[in-house]
Amino acid sequence: MQPYKYVIIGGGLAGQRAGDGIRQVDAEGTVALVTAEHHMPYERPPLSKGYLTGQKGLDRVYLKEDDYYDQNNIEVITGVRATKVDPAARSVTLDDGRVLKYERLLLATGGRAWRLPIPGNDLPGVFTLRTIEDSDGIRQAAESGKQALVLGGSFIGSEVASSLAQLGLGVTMVFPEGRLLELIVPEELSALLHAKYGANSIRILSGTKPERLEGDERVRQAVLDSGETLAVDLVVMGVGIRLNRGLARDAGLELGERDAVIVDETLRTSDTNIYAAGDIAAWPDPTFGKRLRVEHWDVARRQGLRAGRNMAGEEKPYTSLPYFFSDLFDFSFEVWGDLTTWDRTVTRGTLESGSFALYYFDQGKMVGVLAVGRPDEERKPMQALVKARPAYEDVAARLVDEGEDVGTLVE
Ligand SMILES: Cc1cc2nc3c(=O)[nH]c(=O)nc-3n(C[C@H](O)[C@H](O)[C@H](O)COP(=O)(O)OP(=O)(O)OC[C@H]3O[C@@H](n4cnc5c(N)ncnc54)[C@H](O)[C@@H]3O)c2cc1C
Repeated sequence: MQPYKYVIIGGGLAGQRAGDGIRQVDAEGTVALVTAEHHMPYERPPLSKGYLTGQKGLDRVYLKEDDYYDQNNIEVITGVRATKVDPAARSVTLDDGRVLKYERLLLATGGRAWRLPIPGNDLPGVFTLRTIEDSDGIRQAAESGKQALVLGGSFIGSEVASSLAQLGLGVTMVFPEGRLLELIVPEELSALLHAKYGANSIRILSGTKPERLEGDERVRQAVLDSGETLAVDLVVMGVGIRLNRGLARDAGLELGERDAVIVDETLRTSDTNIYAAGDIAAWPDPTFGKRLRVEHWDVARRQGLRAGRNMAGEEKPYTSLPYFFSDLFDFSFEVWGDLTTWDRTVTRGTLESGSFALYYFDQGKMVGVLAVGRPDEERKPMQALVKARPAYEDVAARLVDEGEDVGTLVE
C-alpha cells in the first residue's frame, strides 16, 4: 500500500491541471497521477487539427515538458489503469496490482470515443478519434488513401473532414442531421460552412446514415441508407463519446444524466474525499441555475485547476462561464455560454464580412454568444453580457447596432 496525500486518476487536461492546482496551494503533499495511456498528459484539440495535418508536432500536444513533473514532485504513473476505488478505505487499486492510499482523490477519467454499431465497424481502416494513436493511425491511412468517409456532422467530424481535405483526400461527410453543426449554429452559419466545405471539395450527405461498411483485409466501401455505395480507403467516426464512469459507479458515487458524476459547486462528489472534473463532471452552474456537463477543453482546464486547489484546501466554487472554440479550414470561432437549448439568435456584424457575433436566446433570455473575428475589446463585454443574461427585448436592437458599445449593455 503506497500512501499519497493526493491521487489523480486520468492524465488528460483535467488531471494534469489538477496537479498544477494542488501545487499552487500545497507545495509539499505527495501527488500521484495515474493514467491508462502510455503518454505523459496531453491535450486533444490538435489531434483533429494541426497534429493530424502534420503542422504541429507531438511537442505541441504534450501539456508540459517531462521534467515539469519531477520538478513539481508529481509522480506520473503511465500505462496503468485504476480498477477500483474504495471510498471507505480511501484506496485505489491499479491493474498492475499496486494499491494507492489517498487523502483526497480526483476522478478525471473523461470519455472514450463511441463506434456506431453497424456491420463492418471494426474493419481495419475504420477509426474513431480520441488519442494520439488514433490520430497517428488516421494520418497513416491518409498517406496511402485517396477517399475518406467521415461519419458525424458535429465538431470532431467537421474538423477531421477539414483536416483530411487539407491533406489532399477526397472527403465525403455523412450524418443524419439536416446540416453541419445543426444543434449549435443557426441555418445561415451552416449554409456558410456548407459553401466553404463544398469549395474545398468535401461532399456533404446530410440526412443520411451509413448502413454498413464492407471490405476484406480493410474497409473498401460504405453502403448508405440512401442506397448509394461509396468507395472508401478510410472511415473516421466522429459520433460522440461514452463517459468513463465505471470507477465512480462502482464506488457508489452519485451519478446523473448520461452517468455523469454529480459534483457540488466546489467540484466535490457525493463522497467528501473525492472530487471530479472535466468531461465526466456535472456541476451546478451559477449563471444558468442548472446542472451542466460540458465536453470541452476550457472546462477541463479550469475545472482541473479548481479541483486541484480545492483538494489542497482552498474550497472555492467553480463559477467560470463555459467556453469552447473550433477551427474549420480558415474559419475559427469561439463560444461562451450554454447552447444546449436556444430558439433564436441576433447577429452583430455580418457573416459575409467574417466579423460577427451571434447572440443566442432561449425563451427570451440570453444563453450564449458565438464570435468570429470580433475586435479584442469586445471579448470581455461579450462574456459579461452572457453572464448577465439580459432579456431579448432589452438588448436585441442595440446589439445589432455596431455603433453601440457592447460594454454599455451590461448593467
Ligand atoms: C480530437 C478531439 C478534438 C477536440 N477539440 C476540441 C476543441 O477544438 N475545442 C474544445 O473546446 N474541446 C475540444 N475537444 C474536447 C476536449 O479535448 C475534452 O473536453 C477534454 O479532453 C476533456 O478532458 P478530460 O481530462 O476531462 O478527459 P480526457 O481528455 O478524456 O482524459 C481522461 C484520461 O483518463 C484516462 N483514464 C480513464 N479511465 C482511467 C482509469 N480507470 N485509470 C487510469 N486512467 C484512466 C484516459 O485514458 C484519459 O487519458 C476535443 C476532443 C477530441 C477528442
